[in-house]
Formats: sequence, structure tokens, C-alpha cells
Amino acid sequence: MSQQSGNIDQCFSQLVAEVKACRKCQRMENSERVLGHSSGSLIATVMFIGEAPGRLGADTSLIPFHGDQSGHNFEALIEQVGLSRYQSFITNAVLCNPKDEFGNNSTPTKEEVENCANFLKRQIDLVQPDVIVTLGATALKATALVERHNLTLTLAVRTSRQWYGRTLIPVYHPGQRAMVHRSFANQLADYQFIVETLRRANAKRKTSSLRMFSPKVAAVVDCITSRKPQLSYFALHKLFYLVEVEAHKQLGERITNSYIIRQKDGPYCVDLHIAKLRRTCPSLEIT
Ligand code: URA
Repeated sequence: MSQQSGNIDQCFSQLVAEVKACRKCQRMENSERVLGHSSGSLIATVMFIGEAPGRLGADTSLIPFHGDQSGHNFEALIEQVGLSRYQSFITNAVLCNPKDEFGNNSTPTKEEVENCANFLKRQIDLVQPDVIVTLGATALKATALVERHNLTLTLAVRTSRQWYGRTLIPVYHPGQRAMVHRSFANQLADYQFIVETLRRANAKRKTSSLRMFSPKVAAVVDCITSRKPQLSYFALHKLFYLVEVEAHKQLGERITNSYIIRQKDGPYCVDLHIAKLRRTCPSLEIT
């Protein structure tokens, strides 16, 4: 396990413990707190936010959107566009099931959504998904408490915009009631839009990581060029290699995991490709 994923796991466990201990909403005292590893992947690129766990669904199964009709519809929609719940993170604006006086599902109140908004923010900060999909009006309103926006579901459905440093896509709730306003076929088209947005976000992420040095490579280059501002392209590769050899000798490990090839005229570090070097360090004079 990398140090970074270790930290995410610890922070998530802490968050889950706080959610379990929360007693802010009186009428949810006896409901389950639905947040845990069954919510999905902590490194997911897409996060779905629903309204609240359903009485016959997540409140019983402890798996968001699983076990009731809403869960069944949601699972059918994601499956049909090739998404997996295990590669996504699925949560709710309110993490406990709100019931009315007859014991049926009810819509969370404004105050209940506000009570859970900080937990929602912390889930987003932790998972850092590229794309956030709100399922229904309650989820969309909940995101406005994390960072203000004035979106309404009817106008913003199946559109994408930048919000809180990521892409936000509002769609309808997959429950039977919402199907009256937006048919399954229409919702399926919404999910195809989500997949297309995700595909573009992944491509962008790949290109930018290919375009830029990793922080460790950048630090080594910076260290070399600050001491020797005038050096040839060949010398930079050679010095990079020598720094790595020295680090290995002294520390028992390399600084970067950059791939270095032995060539006829000396070592060549693949990460220091001339085009990448020009893009990442435009002020560098390469001779
Ligand atoms: N199940 C959930 O987890 N959330 C909903 O909004 C509805 C059903």
C-alpha cells in the first residue's frame, strides 16, 4: 500500500467513525449510517450523490443504491453504459434514512441536508473525483452547500460545468417517481453523457501527466540546473543519472522511478524528452 492510499484509508475510517457517532438528526436516531467500504472506491474518478438511503434499500443492505427499486434502476443504468459501482464512489446527501410518521421513506428536510453537508464535503475532498453526478434535486441542493451554485435540476440536467475544482453533472433521481418526469430511455442518455464526460476527463488527465514531469523528476532537474545553469542536453541526462546512482549508494534507493536507458553516448532519461523539458521548464536554455 502506498503512503498516500494509507492516508486516505485512515482519513476515511475517521470520517466513517464520526458519521456513526453523529446524532444531529433526531428522527434518524435509529437509522443506519450508510458510509463505508461498500460506498465504493476511494480513488474513484466518478462520485454519484443520491438523496438518502432508502428504507428497503441502503438502510437494510448498507450498500448505497442497492436492494430497493431506486437501487435496481440505478444499477441497471450504470451497467448499461459500462460503469461499475466498484470503480465509482456512491453516496447520499444525507447518510441516514429519514422516515415519516408512518415509517415510510421521506425527503430529508433542509436542516437535515445542512447537518450532513460537512460530511459530504469531506467525502469529496477525500476521494477527489474528476466528475460528480448528482441524482435528483436534493443532491444538487446539497452540493450548493459545499460550494455555492444556483443550478436547478430542470435547467441543468445532462449538462456539465466546473464546480469545486471538478466537473458537476446533474441528472434525475433513478427512483420510480422521477421516471414519470424523465423516462428510463432519457435517463440512459444522461448516463451515456456521464461516460463520455468521464472518458474526456481521463484522456485529459493522461495527457497532462504525460506533458509534465512528476514532482520528484522536477525536483532533481531543478537541483541540477540551479547549480549548473549552463549545461548541454547530454550533460543534463548524465547528471540526472549520476544523481540517481549517488542516491542509491547513499540512501539505498533511487529518488525517482524514471526510466533510464543506456545509450551509445551515455545515459538517456526517458522523462527528460526534449519536448517535455521545453514544456515543463520553458525558461531553460537547452544547448
Ligand atoms: N437509495 C439510496 O442510497 N439513495 C437514494 O437516494 C435512494 C435509494
